[in-house]
Amino acid sequence: MSNVQKIGLFGGSFDPIHLGHVEIAQMTIKEIPLDILVVMPAGKAPHKNGAFFSDELRLKMTQAAMADLNDDRIVVSDWEMKQAQVNGKTSFTVDTMRYLQKKYPGAELYLILGTDMFNTLSTWKDPEIIAANMKLVLVNRRGEKLYKPRRKKDIRIYTPDIVISAEPLAVSSTEIRRRLSAGESVDGLVPESALQVLKNASFDVNLTK
Ligand code: ATP
Repeated sequence: MSNVQKIGLFGGSFDPIHLGHVEIAQMTIKEIPLDILVVMPAGKAPHKNGAFFSDELRLKMTQAAMADLNDDRIVVSDWEMKQAQVNGKTSFTVDTMRYLQKKYPGAELYLILGTDMFNTLSTWKDPEIIAANMKLVLVNRRGEKLYKPRRKKDIRIYTPDIVISAEPLAVSSTEIRRRLSAGESVDGLVPESALQVLKNASFDVNLTK
């Protein structure tokens, strides 16, 4: 058996975390013999215009949802949020990768992505560097189409190292934000523990964004 540590990175806005995210974490830890799965809510996501929920709420909801899985290999990190809060830095995965390389020297890094994120990889900062240094793990739900690279240089980044197949689960943070804003129920979409965080904060949502 190799002594090389296997570290997974599952990032996202988690604005808010939902059962689709929880399932990804669960499946990943089941399918890949990771030593640690780092779940990292983005501070300032490059593809998005500010979050709906505060950093504090996104972090607390993510922590609550992950604690439900009761697996001490799963660690929620506020590193990207701190970077954004202290330096105003956008959360680029390549920077988080370098942080993990320093924190876990010599470790094998795995980047966990849902299909929608995977399909945008070529628009990220330094995707070739990411693909050269991390194993790309695609969680593909039945029916989700993969982007077919046209440029030769994109072929590596659009070739996942590991594919985890999953059943469709029609849930997104966008739909949850819509429902919450409309006063509709989000039961069965958001873990109960994360909803409790919201309730405790009296729905401390930022409605200006
Ligand atoms: P939004 O609706 O705000 O764009 P989202 O629901 O897509 O948010 P993110 O936080 O942007 O959630 O996604 C984090 C990661 O989870 C991404 O890799 C994304 O592909 C994946 N993901 C999100 N929802 C699902 C889902 N229902 N099934 C599979 N993967 C998902």
